[in-house]
Amino acid sequence: MQATPRTADQLRKLTSAILQAGGSAAAEADLVADHLVQANLAGHDSHGVGMVPSYIRQLKAGLVIPNTRAKVVKDDGAVLMFDGGRGYGRCVAGEAMEAAIARCRQTGVVAVTLANAAHIGRVGAYGEMASAAGLVSLHFVNVTDHRALVAPFRGTDARFVTNPVCIAIPGTDRQPPLLLDMATSAIAMGKVRVAKNEGHLVPEGILIDENGKPTRDPNVMYREPSGALQTFGGHKGYALAVVTELLAGALSGGPTIQPGNVRKGGTINNMFAVALDPARLAGVDWLRREIDGFVDYLKGSPPADPSAPVLVPGDPERRARQERGRSGIEVDATTWEEILQAAEAVGISREKATALAS
Ligand code: NAD
Repeated sequence: MQATPRTADQLRKLTSAILQAGGSAAAEADLVADHLVQANLAGHDSHGVGMVPSYIRQLKAGLVIPNTRAKVVKDDGAVLMFDGGRGYGRCVAGEAMEAAIARCRQTGVVAVTLANAAHIGRVGAYGEMASAAGLVSLHFVNVTDHRALVAPFRGTDARFVTNPVCIAIPGTDRQPPLLLDMATSAIAMGKVRVAKNEGHLVPEGILIDENGKPTRDPNVMYREPSGALQTFGGHKGYALAVVTELLAGALSGGPTIQPGNVRKGGTINNMFAVALDPARLAGVDWLRREIDGFVDYLKGSPPADPSAPVLVPGDPERRARQERGRSGIEVDATTWEEILQAAEAVGISREKATALAS
């Protein structure tokens, strides 16, 4: 289907207007809108403005509560616990990370948890907050309140969600920050949505159908009984997803997805994160020396395909930002229609919505 490129500013303006019409204060709407657009710019359309319809559906169902601040549950030195109260994830997770970063300046290391946040989006955004402050951070996130989407290794049906992991390391004078930020499923669920909306098949090894058989058809995730995503890297991705579920869902006091916990149908993220100050370990100079030396060494490997050089985590997103900053963000026709319907659901006519994004 036809995709229309839009600028980041157009998408920000429209998204912010929809969220404000849904009850968010302007600052909240702008923050969430920018977060979604930044995901598009980074090349992760799965976590971009295509999430707006889901956010508005959940808002209408009372599963997302606008203008909610993160509530401190525990403040105990190097341990901070927050409850997100179903607030927009970017806002409450941002507050939890800001508090962790400030505390880390005193304690050198902080373990922070956030329970019960509405979808926090691209987890890399929180890693980037830590790197910008010169800190290393590790983030483990689970997803609850939601139907299961990912099958356990050797299983045939979905039992958990896409449990992302992020590890961020600050950059040097030469090397931008390194950012590992990935779902533990073979691809993020939003990428299945994008494939469905664009009418594409997904690559092999990503999905199974309702009978547990491999398939490339993204529609298996949108019917009942449903298919399931598989974890990345077979048993290893599965093992990482299991511990991520427990770190994020059990340590935070937010639940894991086990059936003893209520599912209302929202997208709740719980996060366990650690921020640490490299100055308190082997030191910043040593870290920088080793980053530069190691990254140079990696990138010196002759590429198997000369048009695809060796990269490090964070490079693809930086490249996408440059490219999409120039050429715009393509929004496929199905996603665009869903966004217009979300606008209408909060009282913005499609003509006005289209004008906001023009
Ligand atoms: P992905 O597979 O595109 O990329 C994952 C990581 O691999 C990135 O850190 C990237 O820099 C790195 N990478 C890619 N190509 C590389 C290369 N050639 N060399 C070195 N490193 C390379 O990401 P994904 O798994 O589809 O996840 C997409 C986004 O979805 C992430 O931002 C994640 O936080 C988000 N997500 C969020 C939730 C949630 O519930 N909030 C759930 C799942 C995923």
